Amino acid sequence: MSSSELPSSSELSNIPEPDEFMRVVHKPPRKGWMDTPVEFKRGTYCFPGKAKNLKILDMPNPREWSPTDEDWKLPENWKEIIREGFKDRLEKYRSFKLFMDICVRCGACADKCHFFIGSGDPKNMPVLRAELLRSVYRNDFTTAGKLLGRLAGARELTEDVIKEWFYYFYQCTECRRCSVFCPYGIDTAEITMMGRELLHLLGLGINWAMEPVANCFRTGNHLGIRPHGFKDTLEFFADDIENVTGIRIDVPLNKKGAEILFVVPSGDYFGDPGTYTCMGYMMLFHELGIDYTWSTYASEGGNFGLFTSHEMIKRLNAKIYTEAKRLGVKWILGGECGHMWRVMHQYMDTMNGPADFLEEPVSPITGTKFENAKSTKMVHIMEFTADLIRHNKLRLDLGRNDDLIVTFHDSCNPARAMGIFEEPRYVIRNVCNHFYDMPEGTIREQTFCCGGGAGLGTDENLDMRLRGGFPRGNAVRYVQEKYGVNRLACMCAIDRATLIPLCDYWAPGVLVTGIHEMVANALIMKGEKERTINLRGEPLPGSKNQSSVVSHRNWRQADRRLETGREGE
Ligand code: SF4
Ligand code: SF4
Repeated sequence: MSSSELPSSSELSNIPEPDEFMRVVHKPPRKGWMDTPVEFKRGTYCFPGKAKNLKILDMPNPREWSPTDEDWKLPENWKEIIREGFKDRLEKYRSFKLFMDICVRCGACADKCHFFIGSGDPKNMPVLRAELLRSVYRNDFTTAGKLLGRLAGARELTEDVIKEWFYYFYQCTECRRCSVFCPYGIDTAEITMMGRELLHLLGLGINWAMEPVANCFRTGNHLGIRPHGFKDTLEFFADDIENVTGIRIDVPLNKKGAEILFVVPSGDYFGDPGTYTCMGYMMLFHELGIDYTWSTYASEGGNFGLFTSHEMIKRLNAKIYTEAKRLGVKWILGGECGHMWRVMHQYMDTMNGPADFLEEPVSPITGTKFENAKSTKMVHIMEFTADLIRHNKLRLDLGRNDDLIVTFHDSCNPARAMGIFEEPRYVIRNVCNHFYDMPEGTIREQTFCCGGGAGLGTDENLDMRLRGGFPRGNAVRYVQEKYGVNRLACMCAIDRATLIPLCDYWAPGVLVTGIHEMVANALIMKGEKERTINLRGEPLPGSKNQSSVVSHRNWRQADRRLETGREGE
C-alpha cells in the first residue's frame, strides 16, 4: 500500500456532521444482494496487511496490494485453496457446520448490528453477512445448492465474492450482540472468524490486526515495545505516582517465585488514558503488599490473533502459561482488557492448558477462592478488586472523584463472553458518588459495541467506525443530557482508545476512563502525603490548583514517549 493511499488529516476531518450521519437510509437496493457489487469507499474499509508483517508470521502470499486494485494478486489456485480450507473447517468445527445449516432467516438478528443501524447497508445485517459465506457453502457442499443453484440460495465463488468477504468480514467487530437475539444461538462472530481465516489463506488480512500480531511475535506485545522500554515505562509511572502520593513503589519485574503473575494489555502502559489505569494497578498492589510480578516476556494480555485465526490465538496466548511456568508463580491475574478475556475464557484452557502446574487462585488478602478460575488459573482484576471492597480491605475517599459523573460501557467481550456485569458497577459505585447507567437494551448482555473492536479501530476506517459507533454514542449522549455525565468508564484497552473519538463525535465533552484509575484516585494509601492532584495531574475536587505539579507530569509524558524504546518509532 503506497502512502498516497492513506487518507490525509483533512480528509479524515471531512467526516460529515452527526446530523448527516443520523439520516441513515435503510431502504434496500433495487437489485438483489447477489447482484449488488461491493464498493470500496474511502473511510469504510481497512488497509491490507503489509508484506513484511505476513513474512514475519510465515503467512501465505505476502505482497503489497490495495482493495481498490482490480487485481488482488491472488495465488493461481486460489479457488482450490478456499474450497479445501472451507472443507477442513466444516469438518473441524461442528458449530461452523451447524451455523451454515440451521439459519431459518427469521430476521430476528437483522436490526441488532451496530454497523447495520449506523450504515443502513443490508449486507451488514448479521443474517446477510453470514449468507455471504453460506451461499458458497450451499454451492460447493450441499446437494440442493448443486442442483438448484440460486433457487437454493447458492452462488459460485468468484473474485468479486472474495472482495465482498474482505469488505464485510472487516465490517464486523465480532461483538456477538446479534447472537443474543438469535433463537437458534447462531453466533455470527464465529462465522466472521471463519471468513477471516479463509481470507488469510490467500494473504488477505488487514494491517491494523497484522502489525500488532507480528509485533507480538517479535517483542512480546502488540506495540513492539522492547523489554527495556517496558521496564522504563513502569518506572516512569512509579515517578508519577510518587509525585502524586509521595510514596515510592517497587516495580517487580520477572521475579521468580512470586505468588502472582500480572498481565495487562499493552495499551495500558502505552497510551493515555490506559496509563492512568496502569498506575492504578500499581498503587493498589503496593497498598495491599501482595507478592506479584510483571513479565517482559508475557508483556501482552491482549491477543489480536483472535481477529486473525484460531492458530494465531494459540500461538500468541501460549506465552502467558509458558512464563507462569518459568517464573514458578501460583496463579495469574489479568488487567482491564476486553478481547483478552474472551481468549482466556473460551480458548486458553483447551488451546494451551490445562495449566495443572498452577494453583487454584486464592486472594492473598481475603482468602476468597476464585472458583470460576479453577480451570484457567487466571482471575480478572475486576473480580479481585470487587472482592477486596466487599471485604472492606480498602480505605476509599469517594469525594476525590466528585468531579466525575460516570456512566459505564460494558465492553462486548467481558460482558457477553464472561458475564461480568455486576463487578465493575459494584467497584464504580464504591469509588465515586455519581454513577448513572445507560438505558436498558444498550448495556449488559445487550451492550452496543464501540465500533472499533476486532482490529477495526484504525483511522482509515473512521467513517465506518463512527457510523458503527452511533448506537453507543447515542446512549452516551442520552445520559449526558439527562444526568450531566462527563466520564465514560470501561474496562477494555481497545475501548479506552476507540471510545475517545466516538465520544468526541457523538457526545462531545464526555471523557474516557479505566476503572482502576478511579480506584487509585479514591484509594487512601498508608503514608501518603496530602493529595492535591489526581493521576492526570489535575487538581482534586476541593484542592488548590497545583500548576507546577501538572507541568511536571506533562513533561514526564513527553519524556516517556521519547524513551520507551518502541520499535519503528
Ligand atoms: S436470528 Fe438466527 S435464525 Fe434468525 S435470521 Fe438471524 S441468524 Fe438466522
Ligand atoms: S457480531 Fe456484532 S458486528 Fe458482527 S454481525 Fe453480529 S452484531 Fe454485527
